[in-house]
Amino acid sequence: MDRIFYNGVIRTLDAAYPLCSAAAVKDGVILRLGSDEEILALAEAGTEKIDLGKKLMLPGFIDSHLHMLNYIEFLEQVNLSGAASLDEVKTRLSEGLPQAIEKGRWLAGVSFNQDYWDAPLMPTRKDLDEVSAEVPIVIRRACFNMSVVNTKGMDMLGILGEREATSDMLLGYYEDGTPNGIIRQHSQDILAHAVTIPPLEEIKRMILKACGDMIEKGITSVHSEDYINYAVDSSELVSQAFKELAAEDKLPVRVYQQCAFRTKEQLEAFLATGNKPGTEFGRYKIGPLKVFQDGALGARTARLKDGYQNDPGKKGILIHPEEELYGLLATAHKNGMQVVTHCIGDESLEVTMDTYERVMREFPRLDPRHGIIHCQIMSRQLQERFRELNILALVQPVFIESDMNIVDDCVGSELAKQSYNWRAFIDMGVHMCGSSDCPVEVFDILPNIYHCVTRANKDGSKTWYPENGVTIDEAVRMFTIEGAYASFEESVKGSITVGKLADFVVLDCDIYEADPTELLKTNVEMTVIEGEVVYKKR
Ligand SMILES: [Zn+2]
Repeated sequence: MDRIFYNGVIRTLDAAYPLCSAAAVKDGVILRLGSDEEILALAEAGTEKIDLGKKLMLPGFIDSHLHMLNYIEFLEQVNLSGAASLDEVKTRLSEGLPQAIEKGRWLAGVSFNQDYWDAPLMPTRKDLDEVSAEVPIVIRRACFNMSVVNTKGMDMLGILGEREATSDMLLGYYEDGTPNGIIRQHSQDILAHAVTIPPLEEIKRMILKACGDMIEKGITSVHSEDYINYAVDSSELVSQAFKELAAEDKLPVRVYQQCAFRTKEQLEAFLATGNKPGTEFGRYKIGPLKVFQDGALGARTARLKDGYQNDPGKKGILIHPEEELYGLLATAHKNGMQVVTHCIGDESLEVTMDTYERVMREFPRLDPRHGIIHCQIMSRQLQERFRELNILALVQPVFIESDMNIVDDCVGSELAKQSYNWRAFIDMGVHMCGSSDCPVEVFDILPNIYHCVTRANKDGSKTWYPENGVTIDEAVRMFTIEGAYASFEESVKGSITVGKLADFVVLDCDIYEADPTELLKTNVEMTVIEGEVVYKKR
């Protein structure tokens, strides 16, 4: 016996044995569960005993969609989130200017959201020129779907001469027909050339830094999308970094890679170089193909069937035409690969569901577990297709903090109240897992659970269709056992069950008994991975 955890409130999420107070662990695996008396009696000479002090222990948290490398990149660039005006954005950028000059690099700002500004207008290159006309500047919107570049940067990228009628890039334009500095969607790839791709050791450092922050939040597994951070073809370098860390036994958190590719050819090349779906390299595992099918609501790029009510004529974008999407999905599906697709608008969701149905019918395969990431705007009829096709829903409850202020205006209340309907997913028996999409939002699991249960904003001043919320137990399952299901690992983790991995989180409040507002004040006391205490609150 390596270690015994006792005197706790252990909620196992296993219906066969839902509550106990002690757990014994050996070689990273849960050996026995029971009362303090029963388990402490198993102690041997070298057994370490850890008193949980009557605190709540749950299975370790699993975030089923985030971006680890982007998170670190964002930490190390100028953070524009929470800025209340364009002036504040300029001030923050000016503060970062000396460092950019010193390093001879672009001045990069991340996570602006003009919806929160006193005058909510999209900035353009001329606004950024006021910060500097000599240093190239890029700022990225919080949703990732849009960037703004100053005139110097546009010039360096060689795209100041683009014109709407002839350009195949997704750019914004001034009335005089010249580009205004706004770059949308995949056209942002051009920025990869501006941001130096870090060397292997730097990527490894970033991964370890992200893991260090995640274990402080009780996260023991993540599904992370990291292949298109710097350039379309970063998959080899990034996966090498993960594989080396795993081989050196240095990867603290389990990582299930959501492999983002834009073309069938890129995916085929990846599969041809030994990256068999589901292969485990220690704690690093090759996960699903990740496909982007539309944008975001705030940027008005999420593809809506009936268009934007608050912006007549706008429908959003569909990234892959149907046949192209089919090519990507069929390639993955035929190679035994799971697929998860980013869909926010109802039209992109419908096209994706049609394509899932088609590939599953043409190439029947056991238990593919394809999924949709975000699953936001949809009618009840469209939602039923998740059940009919057994498609996973990977949702981000924390998004409603801001989305509750825009969705009704974008799509009308009739559709808004059928959208983000987590209650209906659970009632249908659909596998729904929770995630943060960090760095779009922070990866704290507890606020995410709060939004999931209360359907309220953080200060509690507004709720949004609270009937679409779930219970605390259902929300905790979304961030544990359902996350494990999404990576085909529900038999080895996701609940506290004898024979499963000893991945735990200990909280300083029994969130099952407390008022949901306590979720915002609850702290992670301890994180345990394979029986090792990897984090302990001081
Ligand atoms: Zn994402």
